[in-house]
Parts: sequence; C-alpha cells; structure tokens
Amino acid sequence: MSFDVLSIKKDFPALSQCINNNHLVYLDSAASAQKPLQVIKRETEFTLYQYAAVHRGVHTLSANATTMMENVRQKTAKFINASLSEEIIFVKGTTEGINLVANSFCRKFLSDGDNIIITEMEHHANIVPWYLLAKQMNINIQVAHIYDDGKLNVDELYNLINSRTKLLCITHISNVLGTVNPIKKIIREVKTIAKIKGIHIYVLIDGAQGITHQTIDVRKIDCDFYIFSGHKLYGPTGIGILYGKKAILDEMPPWEGGGAMIQHVDLIKGITFADIPWRFEAGTPNISSIIGLGAVFDYLSSLDLQSVFEYESNLMTYASQKIKEIPNIIVYGNDHRKGVLSFNLGTYHAYDLGLLLDNYGIAIRTGHHCALPLMKHFCVSTMCRASIGMYTTKEDIDYLIKTLNRIRILLC
Ligand code: PLP
Repeated sequence: MSFDVLSIKKDFPALSQCINNNHLVYLDSAASAQKPLQVIKRETEFTLYQYAAVHRGVHTLSANATTMMENVRQKTAKFINASLSEEIIFVKGTTEGINLVANSFCRKFLSDGDNIIITEMEHHANIVPWYLLAKQMNINIQVAHIYDDGKLNVDELYNLINSRTKLLCITHISNVLGTVNPIKKIIREVKTIAKIKGIHIYVLIDGAQGITHQTIDVRKIDCDFYIFSGHKLYGPTGIGILYGKKAILDEMPPWEGGGAMIQHVDLIKGITFADIPWRFEAGTPNISSIIGLGAVFDYLSSLDLQSVFEYESNLMTYASQKIKEIPNIIVYGNDHRKGVLSFNLGTYHAYDLGLLLDNYGIAIRTGHHCALPLMKHFCVSTMCRASIGMYTTKEDIDYLIKTLNRIRILLC
C-alpha cells in the first residue's frame, strides 16, 4: 500500500473550501486537525439513530450503545498496543488526562517533599497541574532545560534524579519545536538510575502531538501513562485517552465522584468504587465523540500508516529547508522536527503575520502556543507556527513560502 495525499485530502470536506477568496491552506493541525467524512458520518449516524445513555439501561438502544462504546475502548488499546482495554480511560482530552493523574495518582503515590521532573518544552497542560499540586501537597517541581537547537538536555534530566524523585512528566513531541524526545531511551535510562538508587520513578508521556505523527506502542515505550486528545488525531473534540498500566491504575483512587464510577452507595456504610476503567469515568461520558474516535481508528487502520508518517516526515524536511530561503526568517528548533514548524519573520509581530496570511487563505497558529517557558527561552513573546496533517501537500508548503515572501516584500 502506498500513500496518495490527494485522494486522502478528498476525505476532508473542510479542506475544499475557500477562505478570503483563496483555497484554504490549513496549517493548524497541531492545534486541532480536520476530520474525515468517514468520522463525521459515523458520529452523525450514531447520534441520529443509535444514541442512548450507556451503562444504565436494559433497553436495546442503551445496551447497543454500551457495546459500541466498549468496542472503542478495545480499538484504542489495540491502536497503542496496550495489554488490556481496562488500561484505557476516556477523558475530555490531554489536559483532563494529566489533571486526572495529578489528582489521583499523585495524591496516593507522592508525599511531602517528593520531586516531580518536567521539561522546559512542556505545554501548559503538562506544567500547570503539577504546580497546582505542588502548592497543595508541598511537592517540588524540577525542570530539565533545552539547548538552543530545541533538543532536551537529557544529562541535566538524569542529574536531577535523587532519592525524592517520584515522577517524570515529559512531552513526546514538542508542540512548538517539533522536537521528538527519545522517550523510550529516556525511560529506560531513568528506570535504570532509579533502580541503582533503590527508588521507583513513574513516567507520564504527554502524547498530544506524539500520537499524530508516529506509531505508538505503549508496551515497547514502557511508559506508565500515555495521554492524548482525539481532536488532534482527526477525531471529535471533547474526547481523549489516558492510558495507564493496570497495576498502577488499580491502586489509584477516584478523582471525581458521581454516577457510573461506584460499586455501591450506602448513606451509613459508605461508598465502594467500581473497578478500572469506570472508577475514573464519573457521569455520562461523551458517547457520540467516543464513537467518532472509534471511527478514527477504523479510518487510520485502513491506511498504510508507515507510508503516511514517512510522507509527513519528508514534507516537514522540505518545509524546514524551504523556509530558510526567506530572508530575515527565524526558525526555532532543529531540522529533525515532526509536525510543526515555528518561526518569526524579522521583527514583525506573529499576530500581524497570522492575519496577513489569513487574507491569502492560509491558516497558521500565532501566539505563545501555551508554552510560555519556551517563549522565555527564545526571548520572544510570540511565534508563528505552521503545522501539518496527513492531508497537507507540497503545494500547501510552497504557497506558504511564496506568500510569506510576498508579505515580506509588501512590509519592507
Ligand atoms: N500537550 C500538548 C503537547 C499539546 O500540544 C496540547 C494542545 O495543543 C495539549 C497538551 C492540550 O491538549 P487539549 O487542549 O486537547 O487537552
């Protein structure tokens, strides 16, 4: 099987429209990806004809909806090669998944004076929950920094480990630099150091950008948690996945209370909780979006994903080289980036560039990308970010470069 980008592009209806009298060139997939018709149709079909509350009713619609939802759990487990479907927890997105770990795992496994290591390249979703927790529990947050070429200083990370280190929280791919952290190697090294020190260190991977550009095998990576959002993986908003190793999840207390997560409630004797994964899924879940996410896995499984990822890699290499031909362009990170390309043009404000590009039908992201520590590292307050999906073509990149050049000349 090979990969034909033009036929893929036809699956994404949003990409055939014009914006400001120009064909849309959508270069904001890292923020949220467009959705294929197959996913939209499946979600719509479910909402129109198959919808019912799950896990509650004995009637046919409810029983069928429950089966369909639990099938998606199994598909998710298969997609990331988790051992068991119980290791898959439905959450709203990466942000909620990380907050769940902070508020459940950490309250059980961490205590006063323990350390959490994060990196300088994290999205705020993998920073703020830890700082909130640090205040409440007297936990220390330590930071491994990056080099100016966007690579993580792994030696600094290893040197931070001491007898109080309990958790490492690290992104798989930086949403700003596109740096791919060698998480498998890092986890192996961290666990070896921990063993020598006679301690146990858990590792959480923010997979929001990682899941979209490479095959994920959580067993090979050997992470304790891997978290991602459906909407960045060509799926619906409001649904994400928290993968956790069963042995750890089994020990974690609930973090939100409500229906569906209990075994028994007695006003005098107290409450007992459901097994995993339901213990972490209080209330009525986002059923339609879960079904939509299932359709994403079906869609992706119908493709030769290796070819897709190879195509994306080559396209990003091409974009990285071409953009450097623009005079006064400042590109952040190194050429091994995946998915995203961040830049500034001279001293022009990123918002101005974003607005001007929009006039030509080009959608990019501008701002601090929820990564203010990274902005500080590069002494800027904003950057422009072009990010690709499986539907992005070489022509899209050429048009971006040509338009940036045109804008540069106009502004001079
Ligand atoms: N982590 C990274 C690396 C991201 O890029 C994002 C979103 O941009 C998030 C976490 C948060 O994802 P969500 O807003 O879907 O919860």
